[in-house]
Amino acid sequence: MDDPAYEAVINRADALWHELESTTGRRLRYPTGVLLVGDQSSPQLQRAVQSADRSDKPSRTLTPQQLRSEHRQISVADTDVGLWDPHGGVIRPELTVSTTVDLARHHGAVVHEFSRVTSIDAHDGGTRLETAEGAQIFDRVVVACGGWTTKLRPALRDTVVVRRLTSAWFHAQDEEYLGDMVPFMRTAPSYCYGIPAPGGSTIKLGLGFNDHLPVADPDTVARTPPPEEADRFAWIVDKVLPGLQSRPVRMSTYLESYTTSMHDYIGFDPHMSDVVILTGFSGHGFKVSPAIGEIGAQLAVHGTSDIDLQFLRDAPAVFDIVDPVAGETTYNDIVSSRPSQK
Ligand SMILES: Cc1cc2nc3c(=O)[nH]c(=O)nc-3n(C[C@H](O)[C@H](O)[C@H](O)COP(=O)(O)OP(=O)(O)OC[C@H]3O[C@@H](n4cnc5c(N)ncnc54)[C@H](O)[C@@H]3O)c2cc1C
Repeated sequence: MDDPAYEAVINRADALWHELESTTGRRLRYPTGVLLVGDQSSPQLQRAVQSADRSDKPSRTLTPQQLRSEHRQISVADTDVGLWDPHGGVIRPELTVSTTVDLARHHGAVVHEFSRVTSIDAHDGGTRLETAEGAQIFDRVVVACGGWTTKLRPALRDTVVVRRLTSAWFHAQDEEYLGDMVPFMRTAPSYCYGIPAPGGSTIKLGLGFNDHLPVADPDTVARTPPPEEADRFAWIVDKVLPGLQSRPVRMSTYLESYTTSMHDYIGFDPHMSDVVILTGFSGHGFKVSPAIGEIGAQLAVHGTSDIDLQFLRDAPAVFDIVDPVAGETTYNDIVSSRPSQK
């Protein structure tokens, strides 16, 4: 998310990450630095450079020659530039979730693990949640169920689609290749990203929106990628990271929700004013999750949030939903990986 209006959310998340880490004594984020690479005309890259210029945090732009000498693993064209963000890094997601749950319990929250909500209905001035263990009535409800959003709230099918993402892990041909590799992202029209494993044994590669599988039902979509799905990553090995082995050693799938603007859906349910919905994080929700949780709580308790979120509602669509039930959409240019697919 490189919308300048999003900076307030990112800054609040940053403060809350620090608080979470210092309160619990757990290290959840690793500031490895992150490299953004793209053609000098790339709007995403230009917005990122402008945002870095506005910020008081240090960052560095790199010429193709500097990219080649400092990040030898990544092939770049003469028209590419880089932006090095020393504050970027990687997050430990599972440890973050368990740490947050522990802290919530410590403050008195009641957590029902592995308890699926099957319906949400208005009931006698409250909101009734149905689960396998029975029903409970609440004054306010916050729904944050990611890839299952449209299953639980079908009214959002015109706004939110679900995609099944595939990540692929590759070994290098030469053991040294990934040793000093940093996490990187390339901008559209050759969008992709790579996150090296600690110690450089493998790198996890990811693709853009158009390469992800539309999801009609998150409970029945095939979660085991067929071997030929590895072919989708071949261009990254050919054109971006030529030192990798040609086939991945592992692939895994995940579900994620996307809005048509790729801006989060944070607001009230279209039909239930006591239900707050947090969804459509469009591939970038984890880094801001502490701020999103706080905003959700503020909306539930006060009806408004400290951060003005109108910009999310005003953001223009970057793709259309063609078939809301099947989750089929038009092509999404802003995170396109292979323009020839169009
Ligand atoms: C491969 C991959 C890489 C990513 N990389 C990044 C990154 O680098 N940076 C970043 O910021 N973000 C990243 N993201 C995105 C980020 O992980 C998501 O945006 C974020 O996790 C979305 O949060 P969510 O709460 O909407 O959904 P989720 O994190 O999917 O959580 C939803 C939860 O709700 C539960 N649930 C669903 N239905 C029900 C129900 N009916 N009752 C009870 N519980 C239910 C699910 O089991 C799940 O635990 C990445 C995502 C993927 C898939």
